[in-house]
Amino acid sequence: MVEADIDLLVVGGGIVGCTVAERAARERGWRSLVVDRRNHVGGNCHDGVHESGVRVHTYGPQYVRTDSASVLAYLSRFTEWIPGRYVAKVATRGRLFDFPVNLTTLEQFYGTSLTPDEARRLLDEKRDRTIATPRNSEELVLSRVGRELYEAFYAGYTCKQWGRSPALLDPSVCGRIPVRFTRDERYVEQRHQVMPRDGYTPMFRRMLASPLVTVLLGCDFAELRDAVRPRVATLWTGPIDEYFDHRLGRLPWRSLDFELVAYEQEWRQPCVQINYPDEQPYTRSIEYKHVTGQRHPATVVGYEYPRSTGEPFYPVPSAESRRLHAAYRELAEDARHAERTYFAGRLATYAYINMDQAVLAAFDAFTAIERDWLASHARRAAAAGG
Ligand code: UDP
Repeated sequence: MVEADIDLLVVGGGIVGCTVAERAARERGWRSLVVDRRNHVGGNCHDGVHESGVRVHTYGPQYVRTDSASVLAYLSRFTEWIPGRYVAKVATRGRLFDFPVNLTTLEQFYGTSLTPDEARRLLDEKRDRTIATPRNSEELVLSRVGRELYEAFYAGYTCKQWGRSPALLDPSVCGRIPVRFTRDERYVEQRHQVMPRDGYTPMFRRMLASPLVTVLLGCDFAELRDAVRPRVATLWTGPIDEYFDHRLGRLPWRSLDFELVAYEQEWRQPCVQINYPDEQPYTRSIEYKHVTGQRHPATVVGYEYPRSTGEPFYPVPSAESRRLHAAYRELAEDARHAERTYFAGRLATYAYINMDQAVLAAFDAFTAIERDWLASHARRAAAAGG
């Protein structure tokens, strides 16, 4: 009977669920049952092989980038790495611009050559210096680069991606994108930028290789909810509002549709990612071979179409969703005490986090589960002794 044999019920086999199950087996010898309604583990970090033979990511590009030596060391137990070179450009006004905005972008955009100091002075003239503390993503971009670059690179892309103006999104959304006065053309800043050498799927398989971990795929938590009573805890990594049957209302999520197009040519784009801020219905195109390192005579490009319905990929960071999420957080706090259910990850904490932050969140969740379990053990022992 499942009930007697399970220490942890892990709902969701993404990076958080896999990390906690791995930690639980290794550090405590706990048995975990990992359930996922998809037919694979790894969450959105999943790769497959397109019929053309080209390796692709099923849910859009997933880049391993981190400044955390501990995250890199941890994941390195399960995979070898190849260097990740994540370069993106923006297609607008009939040409490609370096993006995030760097010295070259400013030269391309303003049609003049610039030293870093000249570029700083130029943006100082362009940016809105009256905005000391940006309250939303529009103000954040205006305060950094001014209206011309905002209109060209951010406004259209963000409206498409989020279905709302940047003025209705927290500053942190566009704040993910740096502005540089160098010619560094990498998309992100982190010190370590790598890709699993053999893809994500073998990495997650190794994480869950312990005989203490059982994986149940294609299974909905609702089917198990009343049947399985884990001895230690339940870890929920799905959408927080779903756990509570949306009883306070539905949190907004953004989703994506992916269209994979194969081309009979070795390369289609000069870099892995091209962003489209204009009228195209898609936000970006991803040519995976640039980061998987695969050599192949054909290529596949994935086009991303933002949607307001479908699988939840992104929480929508805004004032109203923050209020609703805060109410759900209180329910989650109660569930932790009453049901020993813990919430961690992008969906369960309604947080727009990257892969390395998800690993760190999983470490924290495991520590919390362990600490509470040790405390309750100590209480029981004291009661028995007294
Ligand atoms: N963004 C933009 N123009 C771009 C790329 C990004 O305005 O060309 C904004 C947009 O709001 C996006 C956010 O910056 O949602 C964060 O971009 P990132 O590429 O980090 O998004 P993710 O890879 O998480 O989808």
